[in-house]
Amino acid sequence: MKAMILNENTDLRKYKSPLELVDMPMPVPKEGEILIRISVCGVCHTELDEIEGRTPPPSFPAVLGHQIVGSVEELGSKANRFMKGDRVGVAWIYSSCGECRYCIEGNDNLCEEFKATGRDKNGGYAEYMTVPENFAYKIPEVFTDSQAAPLLCAGAIGYRSLRLTELRDGQSLGLTGFGASGHLVIKMAKYMFPNSNIYVFARSEKEREFSKELGAVWAGNTEDIVPQKLDAIIDTTPVWKPVVEALKNLNTEGRLVINAIRKEEVDKNYLLNLDYPRDLWMEKEIKSVANVSRKDVIEFLELAAQIPIKPEIEEYALEDANKALVDLKQGEIKGAKVLIVK
Ligand SMILES: [Zn+2]
Ligand SMILES: [Zn+2]
Repeated sequence: MKAMILNENTDLRKYKSPLELVDMPMPVPKEGEILIRISVCGVCHTELDEIEGRTPPPSFPAVLGHQIVGSVEELGSKANRFMKGDRVGVAWIYSSCGECRYCIEGNDNLCEEFKATGRDKNGGYAEYMTVPENFAYKIPEVFTDSQAAPLLCAGAIGYRSLRLTELRDGQSLGLTGFGASGHLVIKMAKYMFPNSNIYVFARSEKEREFSKELGAVWAGNTEDIVPQKLDAIIDTTPVWKPVVEALKNLNTEGRLVINAIRKEEVDKNYLLNLDYPRDLWMEKEIKSVANVSRKDVIEFLELAAQIPIKPEIEEYALEDANKALVDLKQGEIKGAKVLIVK
C-alpha cells in the first residue's frame, strides 16, 4: 500500500519534505481489530509536534495522522462491532488498558497505557490501517468523509476543552487563538451555552472578522483587555504569550484551559511577565487538556450532527502531505486541511 512515512525528526522551517512516499506491506488485523481502507485523513498541528520532536513517535518509520475516515475492509478474529463496508472514523486515542481507574471512569485519555494513533501506532497518512474495533466510531450520515475528519480531532478535543472549562450558560467565554479548533469551539459553545457571550483574541484581522461572523461579541488582539472579565478562556495556540495575556482577562475563580499537546519553546521567556496578584490570585486556575477520550469523540460526533457543525475544508492529495504540513506550519489556514487518500 501507499504511505507517507516519517523517517526521523526534523526542523520543518529548514526541511520542507519530512515525509517520504513509499510502498509498504498492508497491515493485517489482529484479534479484536479491524482493517480500514482509508478515504481521508485530517492534517493536525500535532503532526508538526511529532515531526519536530516535541512529541516524537517512539520508533521510525512512522505513519502519522489521527483524523481518519474510511470503510471497514476486513475484520480480525473476534471483531464483531462492525460489518465490512461500514463507514468508520479513528481519532487520536488508538487504545488504552481498559482496566485502570481512568479507563473505568471514561477518562481513558489519561490512561498510563494510552496509545496515540499516528504516533505510537501507524495512522492515516496511508491507504490502510488497523485499529482495535472499540476505538473506531460510526460517522453520522450528515457528514462527507472530508467534513467528518477534522471533527475527530479539532472538534472532539475542542469539545473536551469546553467541558473542562465547566462553563455554565450565561457565563462569559474567551478563546485565544482562532484556528481549526477555535472555529469549531465557537460553533458548539453558541449551541451549548446560548446565553454566554464569546470573546476572541486573535493576531490576524481576518481571523477576528471571521470570529465575529461566527458569533463572537468582541474580537481583539492577543494582548487586548476585554470590557468585562471572562469566566473561562480556552487557549488553542502553540506558544506562551497568549496564556499570560489571557490571564489578565480572567475573572475571579475563572479557569483557563490550555488545549495544546505541547507548547513551543520560542517565547517561553514571556512567562516571566506573569504577575501573581494580577494573573493568578483570586483562585484563578490553569488546566491542560490531555488527549481525547472515546466518550468525547462519541458525544461530540452526535452533537456535531445535531447542530450541525460542518467544518470548512481544504483538500490535498495524500502525496502532497508535505505541502499541507508546511502550509499549516506557515499559518496558511483557509479551513481544516485534509488529505484525500482515495
Ligand atoms: Zn489532532
Ligand atoms: Zn487504563
